[in-house]
Amino acid sequence: MINEDIREYIGTIVPPEDIFSNELLRGHTTFRVGGEAELFIKISNQDQLVKLIPFFNRLEIDYFILGNGSNVLVSDNGYQGVILQIGEHMSEVTVNGNIITAQAGVLLSKLAAIACEHGLTGMEFASGIPGTVGGGIMMNAGAYDGEMAQITQSVVIMNKAGELMELNHDTMEFGYRTSVVKNRPYIVMEVTLALTVGNKEDIKAKMEQLARQRREKQPLEYASAGSTFKRPHGHYAGKLIMDAGLRGFSIGGACVSEKHCGFVVNRGNATATDILEVIKEIQDRVYDRFDVTLEPEVICLGDF
Ligand SMILES: Cc1cc2nc3c(=O)[nH]c(=O)nc-3n(C[C@H](O)[C@H](O)[C@H](O)COP(=O)(O)OP(=O)(O)OC[C@H]3O[C@@H](n4cnc5c(N)ncnc54)[C@H](O)[C@@H]3O)c2cc1C
Repeated sequence: MINEDIREYIGTIVPPEDIFSNELLRGHTTFRVGGEAELFIKISNQDQLVKLIPFFNRLEIDYFILGNGSNVLVSDNGYQGVILQIGEHMSEVTVNGNIITAQAGVLLSKLAAIACEHGLTGMEFASGIPGTVGGGIMMNAGAYDGEMAQITQSVVIMNKAGELMELNHDTMEFGYRTSVVKNRPYIVMEVTLALTVGNKEDIKAKMEQLARQRREKQPLEYASAGSTFKRPHGHYAGKLIMDAGLRGFSIGGACVSEKHCGFVVNRGNATATDILEVIKEIQDRVYDRFDVTLEPEVICLGDF
């Protein structure tokens, strides 16, 4: 429970227009589901987190860092705690030769467009991923043979004490859809990417080609969180789900996409519970049929 004293202290750090009580989270996630957050704060600078993070940890107040909400499934019961959104308010970018430094809140699509504008290649793969750089580093987001690990030179993170540290690529523990940020309570503040000088027209053409591929193969017309499951070793999640006879399988307003079985989509009126039940049913049936465990890529938040 976030009492008046806590709210008063937060009010000395964050301006009132960036603090929201009982904020509906469905408006902040690409699944378009989720109940209310007790408190929702739009973070605009590092200093705010330097003060807030140690304070929350000292008082054992639950908090969750949200980027663009494109990989989270928030409970219909919402979240009892503080959502700290690192988004558009923290999205400064500087370009110096082939090096791009970006604050964590900038969208990957925007950053890819900036790289293209400067004739820098290496980020085309990320142009269609609807997350922030912070979320992309945390998940080591990737597509079409590219992933954040390939272009990341260093990352400035904040720890639980509110201290900043610069981690170079080798200490980021990047793996398939994971990084050190996923396994420790670190917050991504700023990322430095090393790209390669290329031809602007070629970069643009590549991004357009990948966007076409996405539109053809993915159910972008529905709300989702992208691929629901990680790729299991030696298999493709979508194929296993299709072969288990689950194409179009639905519970309430949630269903397995007919276009790409690796996506669980919200047909418009799904609850988070519907989505989670579809996920569980997929896991059970794929395990029974093929003895393969599907691990969700999507992160669940709140009590289900
Ligand atoms: C249509 C669609 C297509 C997609 N395609 C792809 C794809 O091709 N490849 C791919 O990898 N993903 C894909 N995704 C999933 C998603 O976009 C990525 O995982 C993205 O990196 C998540 O970023 P986000 O800012 O939305 O993070 P959120 O969803 O807001 O958060 C995800 C996790 O990251 C953490 N996080 C967010 N910001 C920070 C930060 N600054 N510091 C520390 N932790 C942070 C959150 O706490 C949470 O645990 C897709 C999603 C959709 C909806």
